[in-house]
Amino acid sequence: MTQNPRLDALRAEIVDVTLDIISLIGKRRNLVEEVAVEKLRVEIPIVNSTVELNLRKAVTERCKEEQLDESYALSILNQLLIDSVKRQETIHETSGTPNAYTCFIAAKEMEQQGIEVFHLEVGEPDFGPPESVKRSLETALNSGYAKYTETAGISILRNAISQKLSNQYKYDIKPDQVIVTPGGRFGLYLAISNEIAPGDEVIIIDPSYPAYSELVKTAGGRPIDLPTHLEDAWNPDSDQLEHLINDATRMIILNSPSNPTGKIIDHSTLQAVTELAKDNNIRILSDEVYSNFAFDKHHSILQFPEINQVFIDSFSKTFGMTGFRLGYAVSDVETIKQITKLQNAILTSVPEFIQHAGTQAISCTVEEREYSAIMNQRQQLMCSLLRKMPVSFYRPDGGFYIFVRINSDNLDGFEFAERLLTEKQVSVVPGITYGSEYSRFFRISLCQPKENLRLAASRIEEVLS
Ligand code: PMP
Repeated sequence: MTQNPRLDALRAEIVDVTLDIISLIGKRRNLVEEVAVEKLRVEIPIVNSTVELNLRKAVTERCKEEQLDESYALSILNQLLIDSVKRQETIHETSGTPNAYTCFIAAKEMEQQGIEVFHLEVGEPDFGPPESVKRSLETALNSGYAKYTETAGISILRNAISQKLSNQYKYDIKPDQVIVTPGGRFGLYLAISNEIAPGDEVIIIDPSYPAYSELVKTAGGRPIDLPTHLEDAWNPDSDQLEHLINDATRMIILNSPSNPTGKIIDHSTLQAVTELAKDNNIRILSDEVYSNFAFDKHHSILQFPEINQVFIDSFSKTFGMTGFRLGYAVSDVETIKQITKLQNAILTSVPEFIQHAGTQAISCTVEEREYSAIMNQRQQLMCSLLRKMPVSFYRPDGGFYIFVRINSDNLDGFEFAERLLTEKQVSVVPGITYGSEYSRFFRISLCQPKENLRLAASRIEEVLS
């Protein structure tokens, strides 16, 4: 109690209102659980974007009536929605949705029992790192390069990256716009964690690499899916994108060439997306780890320097260096400084000898072209084999994968992947991994020699027929 009765009364009222909010949250949670049980019974997915959109509209209307700041209300709504999805996922036990890695582990377990398996699930190039990279690793270790380094990476590597990108995209990228990260995935984590606060929204173009939505959720954000369709050649619809943007939208994630579809976003679509991002002050996170495997013209976000962006690339795919865990992010100097602070708090620096091996890799332009040509040939081979089967697919513009739809109502991608593994020892990833709409699809990775791809294709055909 104070000497001020008015203040005391107001404080008491705030306590009452806060407790009412807590009771309402409890009531809402009970309703969510009932909804989850009902959805389970009638077998419908947890997230329904139309229902969400209507709820959002209702909240926006209420904000107007109450003269409340819309972005604040939407951020609270998103926290409630995040909680709803989590609770429903627990009831539906869906946190175990398969991904390329879980499929890989299942296949590995079969191998441990002495069964030979064809790995068409994981995106790990079979060609491995260039010989000179392997030698440089040994030289680096013998030279004593096994110490901590600057968190953003050794300057020789940052210089090499900035020069490579500047030459490639004809825009001047400075070394202090680059941070070396332990793999592209960690770059994604840094970019998302740095930008996203609880309740913020991130638009993800589906079908998508599952790490995006996981990382957004880890940061307390809300992934908002923009589905694309095989019939539209996986082109994102910019009107639909505009529709999804609101005051809570902080980021749009692009992945071109795409995992899993192999789609390269064309220049006019990229322009439309960047204009929307600029007009609404949204950052674009552009994951371009498959850009070396572009069989058609690839356009980079780096060619749009006027917008807020983070560009992600990796040595994993380009140079067959998955196990080195080496990648990088590029952004404006200030963002790189913030991201570097975060990386410093977590891991000090990428191992020094790995960074030296990466510097050597940048000069391996012959292998870079060779690896890309290998993937292009495999993609052509697999597409020609798939054309004879009861499936539909988009011929990839780039990347390592083909995203295939089964033309049968009696076999979904999950059941197909399971049968293909157990009956024919070929491991692929079910389409559901990349978004709830893609249950009739499966993803093939081309990280195997042609002979294996031919054999695997004939087994795929046997299960489909
Ligand atoms: N982005 C995409 C789209 C990917 O498919 C992958 C790996 N499968 C990564 C990023 C991360 O690769 P890494 O961490 O090995 O660089």
